[in-house]
Amino acid sequence: MSTWRKAQELAASQGIDTLIVTPGADLRYLTGYVALPLERLTCLVLPAHGDPTLVVPALERHAAVASGVDVEIATWAETEDPFALVARLVGDATTIGLDDHMWASRVFALGEAIPTADQVLAGSLVQQLRIRKDAHEVDALRDAGLAIDRVHARIAEWLRPGRTEREVGADIARAIIDEGHETVDFVIVGSGPNGASPHHELSDRVIETGDPVVIDIGGTMPSGYCSDSTRNYLAGGTVDPAYAEAYAVLEAAHQAQRDHARPGVTAESVDAIGRRIIADAGYGDLFIHRTGHGIGQETHEEPYIVEGNDLVLEEGMAFSIEPGIYFDGRFGARIEDIAVCTTDGLEVLNNTPRGLVSL
Ligand code: ZN
Ligand code: ZN
Ligand code: ZN
Repeated sequence: MSTWRKAQELAASQGIDTLIVTPGADLRYLTGYVALPLERLTCLVLPAHGDPTLVVPALERHAAVASGVDVEIATWAETEDPFALVARLVGDATTIGLDDHMWASRVFALGEAIPTADQVLAGSLVQQLRIRKDAHEVDALRDAGLAIDRVHARIAEWLRPGRTEREVGADIARAIIDEGHETVDFVIVGSGPNGASPHHELSDRVIETGDPVVIDIGGTMPSGYCSDSTRNYLAGGTVDPAYAEAYAVLEAAHQAQRDHARPGVTAESVDAIGRRIIADAGYGDLFIHRTGHGIGQETHEEPYIVEGNDLVLEEGMAFSIEPGIYFDGRFGARIEDIAVCTTDGLEVLNNTPRGLVSL
């Protein structure tokens, strides 16, 4: 069954008459159409009952057809009002569900064009579908995992003392493409003290002998599915004993989380089991973020592996396991794999060595 048909069923069950979805991951998921969010209106008008219509500017018709969408396409000419067209398609719907990432200007324009309908946020409706990956999606995530693993396996080609993070990052970015991704989504090379900032990207800092270096990289494959994996490297020299001690704890926490995560346990329990190990070793205050995030056609999506999320994991849910320990001003470490729940266990999609890699 096509994904938009599943969305129709959910919409009907939630009392939403029509879904309106503008360009982004939800539109891609529902139709396969990869549209850029541009100033001219593109949107899927998906009634709970009846046939959907993809509204596109006339000059984008070719691109939409070429992407193989399996829904009717309606175009609007340059001088027409696209919101009037959407209003005609929506008809007498009284509750309209909007995607979470729709521009505010469009939300207001739709409100004016369809004044009799209530607007509700419907991002969670599509997330309910996207959160459980089918076999094809798991295959795509597996390929993405293999591709980013090939990049991690080549880090020794580029990372060495005397080079800047930016130079190393540029080489890594090229390799992310060479190893099969369509786009580079992020390249984090956190050397020495920069490793203590989880979302540090690149700087002109020159890597020094003995620096621990956090490398967290990811891209999007031609399939639309994303990769994301973090490994830790030692740029020559010998490791600081304080780092080695914390690193052993981090490895134990990550291992415990991998052993625990499976269908039937809650998202927050995966976080808790690793956090307890890190806290018991005295580093609790240095693990300053949640354990992980879901991943699919977006790098960060549901389910979030965080305290307070009592969602019970199910087969097909894919997420990162990425505990970290950060010593402000000195160094940091994070180990990150993408994993997916199988029928009764966990398949880990990143499998390069998790220990500190000495170069
Ligand atoms: Zn992140
Ligand atoms: Zn991540
Ligand atoms: Zn990451």
